[in-house]
Amino acid sequence: NNLAERDRAVIWHPFTQMQTAPAPISIVRGEGSVLYGADGREYLDMISSWWVNLHGHAHPHIARRVSEQLQTLEHVIFADFTHEPAVELAERLLAILPNNQSKVFYSDNGSTAVEVALKMAFQYWHNLGKPRRKVVAFDNAYHGDTFGAMAVGGRSAFTAPFVPFLFDVDYLPVPIAGQEDAVLHQAEALFTNEVAAFIAEPLVQGAGGMVMYEPEVLDKLFQLAHRHGSLVIADEVMTGFGRTGRLFASDYLQEKPDLMCLSKGLTGGTMALGVTTCTKAIYDAFLSDSKFKTLFHGHSFTANPLACTAALASMDLLLLDETQANIQRISQQHADFANQLAAYSTVETIRQRGTLLAFDLKATGEQTSYFNNIRDTAYNFLLARDILMRPLGNVLYLIPPYCTTNEQLAYVYKQIIELLKTI
Ligand code: PMP
Repeated sequence: NNLAERDRAVIWHPFTQMQTAPAPISIVRGEGSVLYGADGREYLDMISSWWVNLHGHAHPHIARRVSEQLQTLEHVIFADFTHEPAVELAERLLAILPNNQSKVFYSDNGSTAVEVALKMAFQYWHNLGKPRRKVVAFDNAYHGDTFGAMAVGGRSAFTAPFVPFLFDVDYLPVPIAGQEDAVLHQAEALFTNEVAAFIAEPLVQGAGGMVMYEPEVLDKLFQLAHRHGSLVIADEVMTGFGRTGRLFASDYLQEKPDLMCLSKGLTGGTMALGVTTCTKAIYDAFLSDSKFKTLFHGHSFTANPLACTAALASMDLLLLDETQANIQRISQQHADFANQLAAYSTVETIRQRGTLLAFDLKATGEQTSYFNNIRDTAYNFLLARDILMRPLGNVLYLIPPYCTTNEQLAYVYKQIIELLKTI
């Protein structure tokens, strides 16, 4: 029986109603940066399957570690119980995160890592007996699809039906090049002693269109927030684990965040797992309170041992010299390609940070909506050439697995140039 037909009969996919979209592509196997289709085609996964597969697909080291763990301890309740993978992962994460991070709270994915950070921030102020209600976020941000995460995300067509149910947030424009002073000026007015938290995707706003901005301006915004005692949340769900050329985007900053959200690359893309980390001061505010000593939040699968093991195995790979060299190599190849792209009049606003490269395809006529013609043209053109890239509106971006070879990247760049010649 045809898998795409069976899929259509029973499955509701995220974002896309498959009934109206082209048939879903059946994937039977993955290895490195290649996804193998049921029809025998081999697709280059140039978006690391929604920005998660750091080391490509089905890496043998992760597979071996997870299968060993599966035969030993697959799951255990995480209230009042603990296990080696959870503790070792927390220790190893804290060793590589900014050194003010002191405690690790586990959840299930990027959205829940953000929910936890927001709940920690609100309850922190509650426990101190000085409730603060305001949150500042960047316009056009994306922090996930759960209600708190939607509330702090920029308002868009995607959130429109839910806006009446979301808490109020004060938005700052993203401080892209040339806008820094104007944004800082606006921020002076927004940040007050009523702001509980400021949340940002440091240096790269992912789903909002891979919009990039400089560490210096974010440092100033973090400092401004801190001057008013507000907590700073760095959502590194996408930027974490080497994507920006350093282990974390926060590593480019002088001013440290108080809370950090991690997921996606955390397990190298093998398992769903979320992490929220916080400073000692935040954790201590929960200890000192007489009634609310605990954070009222816990998922059934909190700190699942298989997911923690996958994260440990992924971290082994990430910290290898070979992987770090690959990150630098891909960053350099992207930079060279960015120079080449500058010659094309159909390309606007080329931007790069580490292994992330993005540019806008010049929109013509009414190409303003997310699912516009130029997006579909680019997607279909590249897919026909066995390249998986999902443009965000008219923004084309590359976020390849670190194991992607020179030859694979060269092929992808060449096909992008072919695309530019046709539009
Ligand atoms: N924060 C950021 C910065 C993200 O890019 C995403 C996912 N695109 C999320 C949060 C939500 O993560 P998840 O899809 O795992 O819930």
